[in-house]
Amino acid sequence: MTHSELPRIEINLAKISHNAEMLLKLYGSKGIELMGVTKGVCGSPEIAKVLVGKGMQMLGDSKVKNLKRMHDAGIHAEFVLLRSPALSEIAKVIQTVDVSLNSELIVMKQLSEMALKHHVLHKVILMIELGDLREGILPEKAVDVVREILQLRGIRLVGIGANFACFGGVKPTEDKMNQLSLLATQIESEFNITLPYVSGGNSANYSWFIKTEHMNRINNLRIGESILLGRETLYREAIPNLFTDAFTFVAEVIESKMKPSVPYGEIAQNVLGISPEFEERGEIRRIILGVGFQDVLISGLTPKLNIEILGSSSDHTVMDAKQENLRVGDEVSFSVNYGALLTLMTSENISKKYINMLTPHAVDK
Ligand SMILES: *Cc1c(COP(=O)(O)O)cnc(C)c1O
Repeated sequence: MTHSELPRIEINLAKISHNAEMLLKLYGSKGIELMGVTKGVCGSPEIAKVLVGKGMQMLGDSKVKNLKRMHDAGIHAEFVLLRSPALSEIAKVIQTVDVSLNSELIVMKQLSEMALKHHVLHKVILMIELGDLREGILPEKAVDVVREILQLRGIRLVGIGANFACFGGVKPTEDKMNQLSLLATQIESEFNITLPYVSGGNSANYSWFIKTEHMNRINNLRIGESILLGRETLYREAIPNLFTDAFTFVAEVIESKMKPSVPYGEIAQNVLGISPEFEERGEIRRIILGVGFQDVLISGLTPKLNIEILGSSSDHTVMDAKQENLRVGDEVSFSVNYGALLTLMTSENISKKYINMLTPHAVDK
């Protein structure tokens, strides 16, 4: 293998492509379109290109900056801001984003004014609160809020949506999906309009989808983690026939020594402001990796070897190498969860290496 930079995240585009294709086919079989969600990979244009290539027409991200990054890289898709625009970013949203998820009239009023000023039509999806208690208007307020949205020029209501399992861990059940469907139908008949999108949720909707025959009005899901990591997100179970290992984090050993397993001396606070406790294991091989919690959510890393993370500071991670003969300069690989992925892709200190084959062969980026 050619020389690769360290620390790095290896991104297997062929596996992501496979996952996207399988999920589009699966959800498409019951009439559900997928919006590809890129916030877990900081709006990576390389990954966005794969998703669009597989047929995803909408790309969603929670940051305007990430959407702009994809737009500027020449990705052709409808760009969706996955959270309510902040009042301080209305101009940027109008200029870069095609659709935004909304739950505040004051924001939609300003979107409307800014859209008129720039002679564009901005689309909005109204988020409905169905129990997870993050974003959304209460269902009983929906008709009144829609009445006001329909007065606003420059913006167009293109759908309603709900979000689950992000804050409260609330499951998107058949009952919740039926509530959202009913509301869509009520709004349409009250105002004699059509809502093209009824967006039922995210990667947490997998088991509802599998168990339910009729999708009712739900015709869209916003999917990130299932594409990237091959899992549903209620229990983090692997989805059949998907890759769960499209991403690998690789760090380098910068110290390797036999040392005690418990710190000695008078114990006060560590860098995190706590007094940590350690298990007595006698003398162990302690290795240090040249990365820390400034670069990656350490708790989201799982070593591929049978070795163990003992703790970390901002730029060091200390591990028990156990039976592994790891030396200075050796590479240590980890699988990542969503939190680790998010931080690794965002950190400028982590090099990104894209691989485009199912067999190992990589190109530096
Ligand atoms: C992050 C996010 C998603 C995607 O969630 P996944 O679990 O990655 O599929 C969908 N919708 C909203 C509003 C989000 O913030």
